[in-house]
Amino acid sequence: MTIDRPNNWAVVPAAGVGKRMLADRPKQYLPLAEKTVIEHTLSRLLHSKAFAAVAVAISKDDPYWPELEISAHQQIITAPGGKERADSVLSALTSLQGKADDDDWVLVHDAARPCLTSEDVHHLIDTLKDDEVGGILALSSHDTLKHVDEGSITATIDRSHVWRALTPQMFRYGMLRDALLDAEGNPAITDESSALELKGYQPKIVEGRPDNIKITRPEDLALAQFYMEQQ
Ligand code: C5P
Repeated sequence: MTIDRPNNWAVVPAAGVGKRMLADRPKQYLPLAEKTVIEHTLSRLLHSKAFAAVAVAISKDDPYWPELEISAHQQIITAPGGKERADSVLSALTSLQGKADDDDWVLVHDAARPCLTSEDVHHLIDTLKDDEVGGILALSSHDTLKHVDEGSITATIDRSHVWRALTPQMFRYGMLRDALLDAEGNPAITDESSALELKGYQPKIVEGRPDNIKITRPEDLALAQFYMEQQ
């Protein structure tokens, strides 16, 4: 197990609105098991003891963040959020400038994934710490997958080659910053790995736990609560 490695940093994009939740506030501030979603996410990252600091990207006009006790935690750095997820990640990386070395590892984790376990964090770090590029937690697909065009199936996809990308995604500070800078404004960059792939790299996948769900729809909160009780 990797403990107290000062050359690992966590980055948490938390500047999204989460429209699909149909709620009165961004999904990271919805209540879940006596806290908000983002408090669980950040507590779990801090509790893993894997990081020198956690940089969190927060929207400029976010009234909820300063109200949370964890926002003043000494290991948490707040950075301004951006228009897209990739902009928020880049902003959080910029807040680590002068602290992180180019070769340090950065683990980017969605604020909306509150069920992350220390076990998965350390499994990812231990598997990839000597890798050239880095990689991501991912899940294989159990369902048969269809390629669909305008509501009709045009092909069945070979699922042995298809994985679902989760977070954390683990890359070297300098390489990730440069890849995101080069990809700025590209709508195809929906995670960190895609920015690295665009540069010609082939990040690794590390099988993660299926309970590391992303809160996206209202029913996901009940599922997250269930998983937390099981953990
Ligand atoms: O909307 P989605 O679930 O894909 O967002 C994933 C993560 O990216 C969330 O934690 C969300 O807060 C964050 N995000 C962000 N800045 C944006 C859009 C999303 O930090 N502009």
